[in-house]
Amino acid sequence: MIFHILTIFPDFFNGPHGLGSMTGGVVERARRAGLLDVHIHDLRNWTHDRHRTVDDRPFGGGEGMLLKAEPIFEAVESILPQRGPDSSVVLLSAQGRKFDQATARSYAGRKELLLICGRYEGVDERVAEHLVDDEISIGDFVLSGGELPAAIVMDAVARLQEGVLGNKDSAVNESFSQPQLLDCPQYTRPEEFRGWKVPETLLGGNHAHIREWRKRAAAEKTARLRSDLLDQT
Ligand code: SAM
Repeated sequence: MIFHILTIFPDFFNGPHGLGSMTGGVVERARRAGLLDVHIHDLRNWTHDRHRTVDDRPFGGGEGMLLKAEPIFEAVESILPQRGPDSSVVLLSAQGRKFDQATARSYAGRKELLLICGRYEGVDERVAEHLVDDEISIGDFVLSGGELPAAIVMDAVARLQEGVLGNKDSAVNESFSQPQLLDCPQYTRPEEFRGWKVPETLLGGNHAHIREWRKRAAAEKTARLRSDLLDQT
């Protein structure tokens, strides 16, 4: 799979504090193993003036600047000249549809994913209206740019690619692999820490009981922390 990231801050993804450290090495390792590729594109490469201008003031007045439509359209059309069902172009935006595991799974089936990072007060709306396949938010809060959201989307999608995770079951038995369920609580050594004991069933070695315990514990945790998931039928 190929990820393209369109940004005015390409250095955000490069260097020692770039993508490698941001994603805990998963994306970097997968890239080195040839399982995926990441192309970082500087939006200013599609400007035509001396100052390489990517932004302008909003019509109607108001705060700040917006990323202009022209360089973004030109960039997307040159990075993905043949758009088809194998590719998706996604605008990261606080106004977008909420990103979730089902969306990550659907992107993971694409050959190419192009992520557009907004900045300043956002992006000329014609990009959302006429260029992208999806406008995606990573949550109900406002960040200063789309670069962190793009890294988050890329991490979530990359780890679903075959061969990226060391253990292929890791992405099967985890939160949201059943859409309405969180992962069950997990414990490691020591058996007792500051007086808090690991649940007896997990130490007993009876796999049927452990499975049963995990199912119940996952349901309880979901009800306690994310009852909204249970309301989604
Ligand atoms: N004026 C915009 C609004 O109120 O919706 C906020 C713009 S924000 C300061 C600048 C850029 O950060 C956005 O264009 C988007 O690319 C990115 N961004 C901010 N919050 C985001 C979120 N929750 N999810 C995805 N992208 C986000």
